[in-house]
This record gives sequence, structure tokens and C-alpha cells, in this order.
Amino acid sequence: MKPAFFLLEKILLVCLFFSLFLSSEKAFCQEKDSLFIRRIYDEALLRGECYQNLRHLCKKIGHRLSGSEGYEKSVAYTHALMQQTGIGKSWLQSVKIPKWERGAAESCFITYTIPEEEKAATINIKPIKLRKSQFPITALGMSVGTGSDGISGQVIELSSFSALDSLDKSFVKDKIVFFNHPFDASLVNTFDAYGEAGKYRYLAAVKAGHKGAKGTIVRSMTLAHDDYPHTGAMTYRDTVPKIPACAISTNGADSLSKLLQSVKNHNLTFIQNCKTHDDVMSSNVIGEIKGSSHSDEVILIGAHLDSWDLAEGAHDDGAGCVQTIEVMRIFKALGYQPKRTIRFVLFANEENGLKGSKAYAETYGKDKHIFALESDAGGFTPRGFSLGMSKEKKAVFASYAKLLKPYLASETDRNGGGADISVLEERGVPVGDLEPDSQRYFDCHHSALDVFENVNRRELELGAAAIASVIYLISENGL
Ligand SMILES: [Zn+2]
Repeated sequence: MKPAFFLLEKILLVCLFFSLFLSSEKAFCQEKDSLFIRRIYDEALLRGECYQNLRHLCKKIGHRLSGSEGYEKSVAYTHALMQQTGIGKSWLQSVKIPKWERGAAESCFITYTIPEEEKAATINIKPIKLRKSQFPITALGMSVGTGSDGISGQVIELSSFSALDSLDKSFVKDKIVFFNHPFDASLVNTFDAYGEAGKYRYLAAVKAGHKGAKGTIVRSMTLAHDDYPHTGAMTYRDTVPKIPACAISTNGADSLSKLLQSVKNHNLTFIQNCKTHDDVMSSNVIGEIKGSSHSDEVILIGAHLDSWDLAEGAHDDGAGCVQTIEVMRIFKALGYQPKRTIRFVLFANEENGLKGSKAYAETYGKDKHIFALESDAGGFTPRGFSLGMSKEKKAVFASYAKLLKPYLASETDRNGGGADISVLEERGVPVGDLEPDSQRYFDCHHSALDVFENVNRRELELGAAAIASVIYLISENGL
């Protein structure tokens, strides 16, 4: 007889023991659920397909910025993948999204004189030597361009918005404000550092523009010290002049800061050729497996299909997309028929507008979502789930997550869900986000380093298995 039979026999005996001697239905279910979760992990780790799907998404399609050709190709590809799973149905939901393009590569340089050389030149009546340094920058998403000549001016380096508040408008006028606010390295979860520093990227143009600056530069959102600038969404206000905004690499920020302290008569220029076009029509990609007994109750698992344009969007959020599709495939492979309806959503335009998730909530928000989960924190080793729901529901979720302890993915201490499901959360839907180890995410997040080579196959598969497990548990037992 096959070993699998012994295992099944053993499980049935344990179940019998629990039902006879403990009369505990819950304990019986836990055994059944534990066995099924083991099968989910085996399917993901032994026969997983998400890694090769991610390779195709990254290497054959490339970046998937909203409104780009790559985004439309990724819609067709992931829709086909959903259909190929052979379970449930899938369709495209139309959505209007912004189209912002970077244009030709950005550049940034500073010219300056050194005080000692200036003094020597005056004494010897020699021409003053003008020095020049360059820095790696990237336009922030949705920023206006600078025109082909760029913008030039004196730089004011600041570490915070409050430092800007204390300056007089006349002092800031026509200068370039450089927000050199680093990630807080003392925070163990790097998402906490991102949460704290992210406002400088998002609001720099509004704050500096309000004071009359002609442009703004922000330090990249990462703890890594390297030469890769990190892009990301920024915003404008109608009442404030729209000034160009870019991010500088962390090494660039450090050397610019050092230089500003030691030189005289500097002049910084940055050039970016980005442009916002009219909105275009595009799509969310949606799959669904109808529930057998509670089909009116919907469990959503999702990720965002769009990415920034500097690389391949491998971790952000290609990983979440292929994990979402992998859950469909695993359920099909295991012949699992969920009790509750499970919806698999790849959202359009998370990075620069959230238009996909807004359109989803508009059309399907009235459906009875009992839980929405997002995977948008990278394809790293899963530790557990962050949760946005009532205390009571958290306790129920935590009791399910205990079954993931053997797989080291049972943590439920952190709060909150992902950006795409925040629209559902506002409507009272309990939400969660897969919580992978965060230490390396911001090394590549929104930069040229977010490529397939930086995703580990096993970590990616473990994430898919963890998601499939909690979706299965909630489908079986409710929330
Ligand atoms: Zn993302």
C-alpha cells in the first residue's frame, strides 16, 4: 500500500478519536484542515507554476505602467493564465486609467566653485575653476516635466516639512528644495520607515510649490546605499503651482548634501521629460470560483497588475499577481470546490491612481465581501498576515493562522490591508495583506532593481501557499 494511504488512515483515526472522546467538531475540522493545508503546500512547492509565470511576465512583457503597451499585454497574458487553470470563470472589467510617460532619461548636475580655489584665483588673477558633479535621479510618477533645458537654481536642503514651514517664502522663491529625509533604520519592519518617510515623496511638490520653489528633489525611499533612484507616486493641488519633482539615489543624496556644505556659488540643474496624456481605457482582470453552499459570500484575493517603468515590477507587484493566479491553479489541482465564492482580482493602476480598485468597488462593492486579501509587499518569505478588521474577527483569523505555524507564516500582529483593498475596507469589508519579510523589499521597490532575478522561487511559492491556505480556511469556516 502507498504511504499516502497510511497517512489518510492515521488522520481518520485521529479524527475519530476527537469526535468520539472529545466530541469536538472544531478539533475534527482542524485535523481535516491541517491535512488539506499540507496538500496546498505540497502542490505549491513541488509542482508550483508561479515562478515560471513571473518569468514570462517580467522577461517577455517587461514593465506594466498604466496606459503602456506592456500593461495591455499583461492583461491578455494573465487573463489567459486564469483561463488555463480550468477552474471557474474569468473576465475583464473596463476601467479608465491615467497615462503618464517618463520620456527620455532624466539628468541632474550641479556646477560649483570651491572657496579656497576661488580665493587663490582672485589673488593670482586667474579664471575661477567651475566644477561639475552629476547625480542619478528619476522623475516621480505623475510629475510635470522640466522642458528640454531643465530647471536650474540654488538648492535648499531640508530634512523635514517643519523645517520648510519655518522658512520665509521670499527665501524659498525660485529655488530647488531638496528633502533629504532618510528612512528610519531603527524601525525593524521597513514598511514602518516607508510609512513615515513616504509623505516626502508624495507631498514634496505641494509643500515646496506652496512656498514658491521652482522644483523639488527627494531622497529615495530606501535603506540601501546605492546609485539607484526610486520613483513612486506624487501629487499636486489645484491651488498650488505644479513644480517638477524627482527622486535622487541615496548615495546621490549623501554626496549632494556633503557638497552643499562645502561649496560656494552652486547651481543645480535637473531635466526630466515626463508628460501626462489623456486618460485611456484599460482593464482589471477578474477570476471567480462560485461557492457551493454560501455562494453569496465573496472572498477576494488580489494584487495589482500595473508596475512602475524603471524595471519589470517583479516584486511590486508581479509576485502578488502570479501568487493570486497560483491559488486558482492549486485549487483546481487539488479538486477543491470552495463553499464560498472566491474572486481573484488583478487591479489596474494601483501605482498612480488606484483607478482599478475604485472601479471594482463601484461595480462589485455591493456584493457581500466577507474578506479581502492583497499580496502587495513583495515575493519574500511569508511571515503571516497584517489585518484590518474587528477584534473579534482578528481572533477568529488568528485561530486559523495557527494552522500555518508549521510553515512559519502564522503572525497576525500587524494592522492594515493593502492599497487596492482600502476602498473595500472603507465600506466595512474585513481586509488583510500577506506579510512577507520586509528587510529587502525597499532595496528594489520602484527602482531599476525590481527584476525577476531578485525574486527567490521558493519564497514566492511559500507566499502562494500561505495565501491559498487562509483563503481555503475562510471559505470552509467563514469569518
Ligand atoms: Zn505595489
